[in-house]
Amino acid sequence: MKILVDRDKCRGSGECVKVCPRDAISLLEGAATIDESKCDFDGICIPACPHGAISFSEEEVE
Ligand code: SF4
Repeated sequence: MKILVDRDKCRGSGECVKVCPRDAISLLEGAATIDESKCDFDGICIPACPHGAISFSEEEVE
């Protein structure tokens, strides 16, 4: 499981940055970027995004 940010949809509003309990998201060049070493894939940021830019990836990580 992975969390993905669609950089075309992201407007850099930073709503996800505020809700992430692990401080895993930062804004880089105007778009959210997730630090996978901090993320625990709880999915809290997904509904927080007003632009639907964050989603779980289909891709399985082994
Ligand atoms: S899934 Fe959870 S820990 Fe990972 S970036 Fe989103 S809010 Fe933060």
